[in-house]
Amino acid sequence: MTTSIATITDIEARTGTRAADTADGYIAPSLAEVPRLGTVLGIWAHPDDEVYLSGALLAAAAAAGQRVVVVTATRGERGTDDPETWPPARLARVRSQEIVQSLAVLDRGRGRIEHRFLGDTQGVCHLDGGLAADPAAGTIDELAAIVDEIAPDTVLTFGPDGMTGHPDHRAVSAWTDRALAGAGRQPRLLHATVSEGWVRDFGSLVTAMDEGEDVFSPSPAGSLAVDLVLSGDALRVKLAALRAQASQTTATELAVGTELYRAAVAGEWFRPAAVRSPRARRLARCRVG
Ligand SMILES: [Zn+2]
Repeated sequence: MTTSIATITDIEARTGTRAADTADGYIAPSLAEVPRLGTVLGIWAHPDDEVYLSGALLAAAAAAGQRVVVVTATRGERGTDDPETWPPARLARVRSQEIVQSLAVLDRGRGRIEHRFLGDTQGVCHLDGGLAADPAAGTIDELAAIVDEIAPDTVLTFGPDGMTGHPDHRAVSAWTDRALAGAGRQPRLLHATVSEGWVRDFGSLVTAMDEGEDVFSPSPAGSLAVDLVLSGDALRVKLAALRAQASQTTATELAVGTELYRAAVAGEWFRPAAVRSPRARRLARCRVG
């Protein structure tokens, strides 16, 4: 399917948002279309965000020869209901190893998936649960430098709602926006979301498990840029990568049972970020002075 440039420009002018790559809104409606995303940069808050939200996508990209870079803001040291057994320093150590092992499962020895913790190059450690209050001094420049260095075609991150409403997720979304505003090259920006079907099938289950902490607002099918339904090998690899982050996933899988857990992680969805079109930015600049 092809879309004329005139049509895309028209959509941008009408909605003020970056148009998706095809007339029906989808860039990657299936794993076979993942190569259209090009070099992928994921920017996330905690280890496990990347595998839950994009594990199969990353594995498909690596298998297709695309470069994949995952940036994580924190070590996730508060991700436990049992801080006596898992004091922050211990959990930070464990989760730092788990994410590397998990990405290795997705990479399958190809050496195409890289991982970095945000702040490492500056000797800064961003704290789990503390990103909303983090002044991000230097962080935006660091992220912008990463974008310039990697030159991604596609950036994956949270939307302004943080997908679950988590303050760390929302902070990372805002940091990414600010970094892209200062970066020289503007990649396609996609925000993680869930489908209406997922909320219908699993929303109440997640809400019950986390006592209403997570709030999901689904995206209608027509607004999605990536809409992956996973089965077979892709789902098996994603499950193995999830299980490699055992400190976060074992208890959940045991609580709901493997069959339901597998079904709940068998989809990955992204929507195009609502950004001002180049035309809108030009007009805004013209009005100044
Ligand atoms: Zn998270």
